Amino acid sequence: MSRRDYIRIDNPFHTIDFHHHTALKSADPADWDAEIAQDYATRTATMDPGGIDEAVLLPGNNLLGGGRVTERDYNEFLARYRFRHADRFPYAFATANPLNGRRALEDMEHAWKTLKLDGFVWHHRMFGVSVNHASMEPLWALAQDLGAPCAVHIFADSRLESPWRLEEVAERYPKIPFLALDGFSSADQCMWMPLIARRHPNIWFDTGALFAAGEMLFQFMKKIDFAPRLFLGTDNYPGLASRFPAALVEVLAMEVSDEVKAGILGGTLKALLARYRPG
Ligand SMILES: [Zn+2]
Repeated sequence: MSRRDYIRIDNPFHTIDFHHHTALKSADPADWDAEIAQDYATRTATMDPGGIDEAVLLPGNNLLGGGRVTERDYNEFLARYRFRHADRFPYAFATANPLNGRRALEDMEHAWKTLKLDGFVWHHRMFGVSVNHASMEPLWALAQDLGAPCAVHIFADSRLESPWRLEEVAERYPKIPFLALDGFSSADQCMWMPLIARRHPNIWFDTGALFAAGEMLFQFMKKIDFAPRLFLGTDNYPGLASRFPAALVEVLAMEVSDEVKAGILGGTLKALLARYRPG
């Protein structure tokens, strides 16, 4: 096997992967079609062996072109990418820098109302602020007014992204549908997720950065009575995509009905994004 080989997975389900980070090198829109073409070829090569039909494009907040591009550039790039390849990438989420003050709010309005991107995503540790930092308040308020889904990383290794911070925000903004990303990224956090799910009906959970032992996804589903709150995310990064999307295999191997699997692998996310549309 060469380093370029990906492991093939027998996956009969229509599958949507929420968690696909991208990179953007150039601030010049004239360069974007070439960037998109190259990314599309390598990205779909990581999706096809696992039978991943569609994915949601996200910014890579640590890949902002070495500081040359703005969040506004990035959102426009993602809108173009989605337009060019809607068959495989029918969704894209925008971001906004909370430290930009009023400009962040303008970027959000532009992304939702003009670009009609499908929601917002933050990786707070990349901005150097916590999930519940005061600078986020106007952004949460606007997202709630717009009726936009908000994806928030709660990666185990970052205290800026501690799950309790998201809980605090979700309690104060009950009308925002929150998509918690990387919630299962440590054994300790895996035990917290069903408790958080039961306390906050407005939080859904992806499978990004999944802790490997203990069938944590099955334990989660069992503890929430198999409610449709879990969706697939493989945490795909350009150049860093796993040759073995472990979360997908774990879902396929679960002792649950095909209906539950179909929900985790796409149905739950699709229904959620259909309910909250950009306007
Ligand atoms: Zn991520």
